[in-house]
Amino acid sequence: MSSKYIKKILPINLYGGSSPCEFSIPRRCPLCGIAATFSILFTSKASKIVPHIPLYASIVFECPECGLHFLLGYEIINDSFYDGFNLTRLVEYENSDINLNINVPDNIQKLSPNFYQIYKESLQANAHHFNTLYGMGLRKSLEYLIKDWFISIDPETNINVPLSQLINKIKNEDIKTLALASAWLGNDEAHTTRKYPDKNANDLLAFIDVLITYISGELKIAEAKSLVSRNN
Ligand SMILES: [Zn+2]
Repeated sequence: MSSKYIKKILPINLYGGSSPCEFSIPRRCPLCGIAATFSILFTSKASKIVPHIPLYASIVFECPECGLHFLLGYEIINDSFYDGFNLTRLVEYENSDINLNINVPDNIQKLSPNFYQIYKESLQANAHHFNTLYGMGLRKSLEYLIKDWFISIDPETNINVPLSQLINKIKNEDIKTLALASAWLGNDEAHTTRKYPDKNANDLLAFIDVLITYISGELKIAEAKSLVSRNN
């Protein structure tokens, strides 16, 4: 086991008697990704009736950061009583996708599936503490969002131009300002020197989140206008 885990000896009920076992416990919560010391809510007993299957025990943990519970299963390795405790092996545990609450309006997901995909991947990267990928991913997601929005307004738009040129064509001044500020912070994430050292990728995310709300609103307004114009 790598240093992603810590070892902890806990007594469990093994074949009807209390017996210490050594468990590998992940350092990071599989639900929120934050490193924490988890409370143990429950340990199962370990006994089996059917021969030739491994002996298992389960533990329910509570994360102090997100407050959620998770269950891990352990195989108790046969005849492994060692230095006063039994060895165990963590069964099928993968800390791959952290469950994030990602709220992107449906019309934005539909407008730019590429934006949505990269935005989600960026938040996953952040949850796994890949901070460089997080900022660069957000920068890329922004580019898809703006370009796909322009194409939805006019499919003939030439999008093979620098992002700033497109942003300068945005009519809504609030959206233009947000997009410009996002693009500037995004460049900081993609380049080796920072122009805005007091800002970071979290500030970029905050700008992009407001931008999503505004563009989603513009799409809804366009939908309403088209409906109203049918009766005029
Ligand atoms: Zn957690």
